Amino acid sequence: MSANGVRVLFIGGLGRSGSTLIDRVLGQTPGVCSVGELVFLWERGLLANERCGCGEPFDGCPFWKEVGVRAFGGWDRIDPAAILARQGRVDRNRYVPAMLVPAVAPAYRRRLEPYAEAVGRLYKAVAAVAGAALVVDSSKHASTAALLRHVPGIDARIVQLVRDPHGVAWSWSKTVERPDATDGVSLMARVGPARIAARWQSYNALLALVRSSGGVLRYEDFVDRPEHATRRLLALGGLAVDALPQFTGPRTVALDVDHTVAGNPLRFRTGELQIRADDEWRRAMPRARRLLVSTLAFPSTVRYRYAP
Ligand SMILES: [Zn+2]
Repeated sequence: MSANGVRVLFIGGLGRSGSTLIDRVLGQTPGVCSVGELVFLWERGLLANERCGCGEPFDGCPFWKEVGVRAFGGWDRIDPAAILARQGRVDRNRYVPAMLVPAVAPAYRRRLEPYAEAVGRLYKAVAAVAGAALVVDSSKHASTAALLRHVPGIDARIVQLVRDPHGVAWSWSKTVERPDATDGVSLMARVGPARIAARWQSYNALLALVRSSGGVLRYEDFVDRPEHATRRLLALGGLAVDALPQFTGPRTVALDVDHTVAGNPLRFRTGELQIRADDEWRRAMPRARRLLVSTLAFPSTVRYRYAP
């Protein structure tokens, strides 16, 4: 914990930009605890009892059990459905302007404060239980990033993760099974390329405002030089490290178990992992679709140096 509170490195960006991979690589650093997408703790962890990254259902994970005790005196002392409802009333992109102004409107502040207080307790408990100097949260949403300004007892840094919108759109068009559910089969959401391209543009414009002095990381740069990018992110999180023992080669990492709340299926992976660019779209995406994405994702494509 720094003088300003628990250090949190928040990864912002649109889904399918590589955030789970980067979150996992960061999480293997001594002194760092990766929690995956903490924003889903109330819904997917406490209410749906989905699997933790360790493979246990949420209520069977010893790590999260201890976090619940530290934060609230036990999960049975809080009402997750009520907190989820409150989250839905404050953690929305339409409230980002309200969160960014110095004087938050009183009516909104009354809704925001109790929720932000609960989130603050969570981060503090995670850092204490894990014995971590830095908590990595890959919740991604711009509104969740903006909300961190109002969370007491934390020192949050935001990195905006961007990936070529063609790759993002291609990934959203595929069918992927979710191993998270503890009852039956479920699939990750599929969304068409036009909607994804438009969303890519608006999310990135919003995140650029929210991150203020934080950093930008291109997924492609991470894949190209993962160790260099990892060091940069840790420095942004205020953590100076000498060795990164997770790198067993220039593009190879060894993954241990992380107690992640949500994320893509990679969060369950352990053992050696090759980091390589997921660029199937370059060969497989039809030209017309590619142009459609380029058009709708403009002008952030220029800002983040992506060719049409
Ligand atoms: Zn766990």
